[in-house]
This record gives sequence, C-alpha cells and structure tokens, in this order.
Amino acid sequence: PLPVGAVLAGAAQRYPDRLALTDGQEGLTYAELYDRALRFARGLHEHGIAPGETVLLMIPNCPWFPVAYWGTLLAGAVVSPTNPAQPAAPLAAQLADSDARAVIAYAGALPSVYAADAPGVRLTAVVPGPRSSPGALPEPPAGRTVLSAEELLTHGRAEPAGRRPEDVAHLAFTGGTTGRSKAVRVLHRNVIANVAQTVWVRAAGRLYDADGVLGLARDEAAATPHQSVPGTESTISVAPLFHAMGLVGMVAHTVIGTTAVLHTRFDPARYLDDIEAHQVAMVGGSPTMYRALLASPASNGRRLKSVRNINSGAAPMDSGTRQRLTELFPDALYSEGYGLTEATMALAMWPLDAAAGTPHGTVGVALPDTELSIRDLLDPERELPVGETGELWARGPQVTDGYQGHPELTAEQYAGGWLRTGDIGRLDERGHLFLSGRAKDMLIYKGYNVYPLHLEDILAGHPAVAAVAVIGAPAADAGEIPAAYVVLRNGAAATADELMGYVAERVAPYQRVRELHFTDALPVSAAGKVLKTALRERHAARTA
Ligand code: ATP
Repeated sequence: PLPVGAVLAGAAQRYPDRLALTDGQEGLTYAELYDRALRFARGLHEHGIAPGETVLLMIPNCPWFPVAYWGTLLAGAVVSPTNPAQPAAPLAAQLADSDARAVIAYAGALPSVYAADAPGVRLTAVVPGPRSSPGALPEPPAGRTVLSAEELLTHGRAEPAGRRPEDVAHLAFTGGTTGRSKAVRVLHRNVIANVAQTVWVRAAGRLYDADGVLGLARDEAAATPHQSVPGTESTISVAPLFHAMGLVGMVAHTVIGTTAVLHTRFDPARYLDDIEAHQVAMVGGSPTMYRALLASPASNGRRLKSVRNINSGAAPMDSGTRQRLTELFPDALYSEGYGLTEATMALAMWPLDAAAGTPHGTVGVALPDTELSIRDLLDPERELPVGETGELWARGPQVTDGYQGHPELTAEQYAGGWLRTGDIGRLDERGHLFLSGRAKDMLIYKGYNVYPLHLEDILAGHPAVAAVAVIGAPAADAGEIPAAYVVLRNGAAATADELMGYVAERVAPYQRVRELHFTDALPVSAAGKVLKTALRERHAARTA
C-alpha cells in the first residue's frame, strides 16, 4: 500500500533542504513542510478528527494550503478542497456531499462557512490570508469549535496514518461548468497512478513517439530546446490548488522536488517579475490565465528565457495564444494536458512539438496504461473507427469510481470501468487526441452539428479579439444558431459584421456565427473555464 502522504515523506527524506515552496516572504524546505504537516495531522487528531473523516479546505494558494493538504492526508483523513470564494449556498451542498467534519478556511471565507452552517462540522480552523482582519471575524454558530490554524501545530507531531489503495484520498469537486458541482471520490491508488503517469511522461516523453516507439528525440534533439531535467527546476504555481490540475500537479511536483512559487492572486506583472527573480523553469495554468498574461502591458516585448516548459490544460487553447506564448517564453517546450476531475486530473498529455511532427491542435496522446475510445453519439455501445468524431470514453488506473452520495449520477457517467467524459473528439492513427468541444455545448443548426470550440478558435485568431465564447441560442426557424460573445482587446475596434464576416470566410455556411455581442468580460470559473451555463442564462435574459 502506498498512501499519498508517503510522497511528502519521501521528498522530505530525499531533498530535506530543498525549498518546497515560497510565497515571496515565507519559504519552507521539504523537511520543514513535512514537519508542519505532521504537526497539523496531530492537531486534527487532538481535536477529534479521525482517520477516514473529511476535512474541507477553503484556502487560496499560500503556504497554508500544502500544510493543510498534506497534514490532512498524514492524519489519515480525506481532503476536500473547494474554492475559497465559494458562496454559502453551493458551499452548503458541498459540505453535505462531502460529509465534512472539519473546515480549514482563510478568514475571508468565514461568512460563507458560517452561513452554510453544516451541523456535521465540529471544528473550524482559521488560516491567515488576504482580507483577514481578525478584529472583525464573524460570530460562529453555537456549539462550533473555532480556533486559529496555528493552534493546530502546537501539539507535537503525529505518527503518519496508514491508508489502503482503495481508501478515498480526495473528495474533489468538479468545476460545475455544466451545472451542479459534484464530489468525485478520488482514491489513493488513483492519485498515485496519475502522478506516476504524468511524471513518467515528463521524464521520458520526449524520447518516445506517440505509439511508444523509442527514438523520436534522435533527429530533433539538436534543433529544439531541451526539456529541463526533473528535480532541478522551480515551478510557478498559480493554477488554483483547490482544483484537480493544481492539486494533483502539486503532488507530482513533490515527487520531483520542485520549488513552488505560490501567488495568492494572479497579478500578471508580479507573475512575470517572479519568473525572472526565481529563474522559474516551468509554468502551468489555464488558457484564460495565459491570455490575461499576454494581454497585460507587463508582457510587452519581454522574453523570459529561464522557462523551459509551458503546461496548459483545463480548457481549449487557441493557436494565436499558443503562438504568442512561445514568443514570451522563447526557449520553452509547450505541452498540453487534457483531463477531468473524474479522471483524478489527466487522461492525455504530451509535449507538443511541431518540430517533432506533432500534429497541430491535438491535446496529446493517452497517458501510459490509459485507453481512449470514441463512441457513437447515438449508439454509445458502438466504438467508432480512427478519424471519426464521437464521445470520448476513457479507462485507466486514474479513472475514479464515482460521485460521493450520488449513485444515479455515477450510473450516468460511468459504465463497466469506462468513464464517459462528455467531451467530443477524435483520434488519429497515431493516437493523438483532438477535441471538438463538450457534448453539452454542441448545438444543432438546421440539423447540422456545430461545435462552438471551432468558431471560438477562429475568432480568437482575429487581432482585435481578446476573449470569446460561442453558445447555441434558440432560434425558431433553425433550432439553434451560433451566438458569439466577444471581449475586444484594449484599444482595438471591430464591428459585429466585420467579425462575423471573418468567421464566414473560414467555415462552411452552416457553421457561420449568426449573432455577435460585445461584452466587457465573460463569466469564468476559478479554474479558468468559461461558464457557458451562466452565459446562456445571460443570453436568455437579454432576449427575454
Ligand atoms: P462540471 O463537470 O461540474 O460541469 P467541469 O467539467 O468544469 O465541471 P472539470 O473536471 O474541472 O469539471 O473540467 C473537465 C473538463 O475541462 C473536460 O471535460 C474538458 O471539457 C475540459 N478540458 C480539460 N482540459 C482541456 C484541454 N486541454 N483542452 C480542452 N478542454 C479541456
């Protein structure tokens, strides 16, 4: 049995003096992080939290996050991280789904935590954080123990608790992009498997061809920048740690002993300055974050050569942004990862290297030990041949066993060891995965399937466009029409007709954008995804 907590124990043994994290002020070595995590675990035990019980975290990216995460796991408890800005109503649903016994929250989250008032929560511990003004803390509901997180560290160190591979490690909430956020049961063996798979690809990926043939690196090794050697790099982490990509990424970074530079809030200028100050070798985040980085004046004319790896995931990357990123980080290899909370984090990943013959637009190939299958949208039992587009199903050791407390949702999404991802895509003959969008986003115009992602990618390539989202809008004669919402770049000008014409020149007539609105901002989730449900509601309100 290899519980996830062993990853930190191992790192503390192998790299005790290496810096595990820094927020610019406070830094912790791996030995110090392990010590704090064991103290945190003891504090939980002292306050009556038993192995197998759930601890919910509402902590922004700061040193307390890893301390509470590893401390909870080393206590044998289940970690359930959620957005620190979560309002009371969805938080109440999450506390009920996860059956949390303790909440570790930064002070700014307390009004939500108290208003959600879950009767099962026995302990609330408060970590200092942005917007915290201790004098003005709200009053807790009666009968609840509230203390400062520092107090938890004062009882000495716990013995690390043993866990079995089938025990739950995380109750991880899906982003709620398509509706209600669900608590996924992520087992210890799922986390270990996904970390092993992604670390393997990082260590060896460049040496293998998409179908596992050794030798890809032979010809282009000299022509393309080197991938940095794992363990000798620092990383910069702004992907929110409460979301799958940031969370499982953090465990993977612990295996290879990187230094995480933690930013509580994403500020492009400070982010770029820190890349220089810490000679950051690896950056990771969502396309939304990268677009904000490129839109900031702080990135103008800058060339940051310490960065060797750019990782993007969580949402579709457009080709324009990707191109501009390689100008900002001229020596970096670009990789994309694709996954979902139900698959722990990642299903596919690959360093996407045009020079090495990686086809344009793919999100990678299946991770080791992972099967991808494309299914007929109307007859899911039918597997489609190479090249055809349908719903992506996935099977592998990182695929979780379902949603906590919702067997009916589990039955809809999981079938015979397969996870139905809800994403639409195709595979080429070498196993590269191409996504056309989410099944729930696809719209039908006069009987034709239209994928908003394709139209978004085209519009994002227009020089005046900073961000774009396309939704299906109900239309009496056509069923649905593609309607675009566009945010213009600072200082740029374009008319709706001009942009619709730009798309029309590049697509078949049935795919044309039929309606286009300008907006100051799109609704996005903390993980950087456009909230299409919110946008559809906004659109419905406008046309009502
Ligand atoms: P919910 O399931 O509650 O609606 P969610 O889908 O946002 O929320 P996540 O698990 O955070 O929950 O997101 C997974 C989804 O993100 C995938 O199904 C896919 O649609 C999208 N995604 C992830 N990586 C990529 C990528 N590299 N390119 C395009 N889309 C991606």
